[in-house]
Amino acid sequence: MPMARISNALKIVNFTRLCASLRDQEKIGLFFPYLKISILLILIYLPEEIFAQEKRYEFEKGLMGSPFRLVFYTTSDTLAQRAALLAFGRIEALNEVLSDYRDGSEINRLSAQSGSGKWVPVSDDLYRAISLSKDVSQRTSGAFDITIGPVVQLWRRALRRNVFPSPDVVAESRQAVGYRYMKLRPQGQKVKLTQPGMRLDVGGIGKGYAADEAVAVLKKLGINAVLVDAGGDLTLAEPPPGKPGWEVEITSGLPADSTTTLLLSNVGIATSGATYRYLEHEGVRYSHIVNPQTGVGLRYHVRTTVIAPNGTLADALATAFSVAGIEDSKRIVENFPNVKVWLLEMNNGSVKSWNTLK
Ligand code: ADP
Ligand code: MG
Repeated sequence: MPMARISNALKIVNFTRLCASLRDQEKIGLFFPYLKISILLILIYLPEEIFAQEKRYEFEKGLMGSPFRLVFYTTSDTLAQRAALLAFGRIEALNEVLSDYRDGSEINRLSAQSGSGKWVPVSDDLYRAISLSKDVSQRTSGAFDITIGPVVQLWRRALRRNVFPSPDVVAESRQAVGYRYMKLRPQGQKVKLTQPGMRLDVGGIGKGYAADEAVAVLKKLGINAVLVDAGGDLTLAEPPPGKPGWEVEITSGLPADSTTTLLLSNVGIATSGATYRYLEHEGVRYSHIVNPQTGVGLRYHVRTTVIAPNGTLADALATAFSVAGIEDSKRIVENFPNVKVWLLEMNNGSVKSWNTLK
């Protein structure tokens, strides 16, 4: 590493100066044993430091229902292996807390207490995920809402059975939806879900949160040039050594594809869309992203890419802007400094695009 070389060269200069000045003062005899130790230490220490190059490491594991890929730079194989193990371990631990697919997950145990009138103490991670989500709900006029759980469950069932839910059933499941029913108390980190039948679903923010946490684990180990790819959603820390940024290709996903390549660092990039996951009924496609206001999956094809200061926010906002659509998103984005969006709406063959990425 150039930086390591420079700092070691400075150490040598300082050391020579120290010897010279000590000799001048004829105190060298007094300091001689220490100098000998120093020389030994420097001889042992220097060659590795000077020649150690940071290498690129890449690890992949299926977690939270999608492939998680870690790319980072460091000098030691042992550290790299340990770092990957710890980062994946952190994501696994988060999944135990946040997964709505696991009966015993902390989030499902909390949901099971909805309507009981109880303030439930929760873990740091669950409290943070819920309070970040509520904050995003407030700033997106409810386009993003993790209390959407009962409606998401309804649509998942509909998809499995291939039966389209009736408006009555949709209306009923919407009764328990509303971020305002989710009360937070910072003292003791407690949460109260005031409506019976509520179900929290952090599917729209969980991957971004997990990716940010994986970056934090690596940074604690002194690894700063990091990219975490959570099934296409990226969290980037510092760029690769000697590079101005990570090269990120962003595509529109349209048949007549347009691609933008950006050099980025210290941001999150997330894409949401109705393009691949949907339920088809009478020729209309309904997305797995649901409008909390109607309880129905998005009906037009939308694809949203967001660049935000971190992965959590990018993930949540990609979902939120997809729900809000271009016109409302233009207003919502004002509430989020340093957030950029590329939103495409495809309706009856026409394509509308709004792009602030460049
Ligand atoms: P993906 O997981 O496909 O990348 P998203 O990040 O947009 O897509 O998350 C979609 C998931 O978020 C859904 O599967 C559901 O669990 C949840 N969700 C759906 N609609 C909303 C909404 N309006 N607000 C918050 N979460 C939502
Ligand atoms: Mg999302």
